[in-house]
Amino acid sequence: MIVFDLRCDSGHRFEGWFASSGDFASQKKRHLLQCPSCGSAKVDRVPSAARLNMGAQPPAKPKAPEKTPQKTPEMQGKDPFAIAQMLYSRMLDELLKAEDVGAQFPEKARNIFYQRDEARPIRGQATQKEHDELVDEGIPVARFPVPPRDKLN
Ligand SMILES: [Zn+2]
Repeated sequence: MIVFDLRCDSGHRFEGWFASSGDFASQKKRHLLQCPSCGSAKVDRVPSAARLNMGAQPPAKPKAPEKTPQKTPEMQGKDPFAIAQMLYSRMLDELLKAEDVGAQFPEKARNIFYQRDEARPIRGQATQKEHDELVDEGIPVARFPVPPRDKLN
């Protein structure tokens, strides 16, 4: 690629990229050269040294604006922290619908899993060891961070 400094008849200066100086002459002859500022086809090389850019690419076109991720209306205008809080609060609502079986959780979870008890969502506490044992038995349990006390009332 070769770069020429160009100027239109109104004096606008700009750069033109060409495969060769012959390409410049050919494009000029066919009036393919236009001033980007005013659209004039009367374009001439500015008598300055042409810069040779071997292997370089023409200047990148301005990127199309990136699509912003779709947001639901309720998330519109809220900061990420507020959205996280909202989602957490929702998760908590679901969680709190589950029957609180407290420290009996491992036993109850096992009973439900082995269909010795009515199937229902439960919540409660389990020690690390109890949790691991449930997981080892293939019982679907999930741990959640303990929510703030005011959320529990
Ligand atoms: Zn111009």
